[in-house]
Amino acid sequence: MQNEFNIIEHYFKRQEKQRSDVVIGIGDDGAVTQVQPEHQLVTVTDTLVEGVHFDQTTPARAVGHKCIAVNLSDLAAMGAEPCWISLALTLPDIDELWLNEFAAGLHEVCQYYGCTLIGGDTTRGPLTVTVTAQGQLPTGSALTRDGAKAGDWLYVSGPLGDAGLALDITQQRYPKASPHLQKLVERLHYPTPRVALGQSLRGVASACIDVSDGLLADLQHILSASGVGAEIELDRLPLSLAMTETLSQEDAFVKALTAGDDYELCFTVEESNRGRLETLTAHLKNRPICIGRIQKVASEPITFKLFGEEYTLSLPRSGYNHFANIEADPS
Ligand code: ADP
Ligand code: MG
Repeated sequence: MQNEFNIIEHYFKRQEKQRSDVVIGIGDDGAVTQVQPEHQLVTVTDTLVEGVHFDQTTPARAVGHKCIAVNLSDLAAMGAEPCWISLALTLPDIDELWLNEFAAGLHEVCQYYGCTLIGGDTTRGPLTVTVTAQGQLPTGSALTRDGAKAGDWLYVSGPLGDAGLALDITQQRYPKASPHLQKLVERLHYPTPRVALGQSLRGVASACIDVSDGLLADLQHILSASGVGAEIELDRLPLSLAMTETLSQEDAFVKALTAGDDYELCFTVEESNRGRLETLTAHLKNRPICIGRIQKVASEPITFKLFGEEYTLSLPRSGYNHFANIEADPS
């Protein structure tokens, strides 16, 4: 396996099943795909950098899975059907064992959600995986961040904070080992993009975002874009058994609200659409959970209640900032 062409041929060109709308796939200067009539194209990109988003202990299969899953999560948040994947891969060297596992993880997720890898670029350098995913949706039906209105109900698609808890435990921030570690690490390494839910929310959700930086940080994007505030009922936050058995109630709330890497959807639904949401999501294994309500903007953009009473949480500064340690250019 001497060069990039062999890598492409061996690991990325072979796919069990290609979408029929891929006119030209891997092998030419560009890929050609057929968008359905009356549909719009949605394009998202996410990068995973070794040392930032994963480390040397992360299984290659997980890196392959996650680089696709995080992009499908963005497509889900837009309400799009995932279709086509492009992969820009930068490798420090040719490690066949690593590549084999990485490609297996990547193809598995693509296969499961019916996406086809249509191209990319392969270069040498520090291990970096950039994926661009494209999806389509009926014209005008994209879910955006700016449509939430006071009175809308606030939902999340599943348990929050597990990935962050997994990271804390693996980095030994807790004195005793958790019996739930394996399950938690699965949530960190193999996130499930809420692809079916995202598409079901078209015409139902007034705003939607995926939770990659922590619920509060991501909800804040909806609130700013929509010019509204929100009230969260802490006792309704979906917490896994692993979470409630590992952390105190207060710590579990903070973890669920601020930890990143969950890849659940956070969305708002108008009162008159609640019935439709129930009907449309009845078939899903994981039904969305109502955690609060959108309010008129006030001095505090997000307020909390616990069992009906106002509640004050002491929160650390939330959200990961990639440029936090870089000083601003004084000029
Ligand atoms: P060019 O020099 O014309 O940019 P490349 O030699 O980089 O083409 O790539 C050859 C073909 O292989 C192209 O179709 C490209 O999209 C595809 N390709 C390159 N790297 C990858 C990759 N990591 N995964 C999937 N397809 C890839
Ligand atoms: Mg190229």
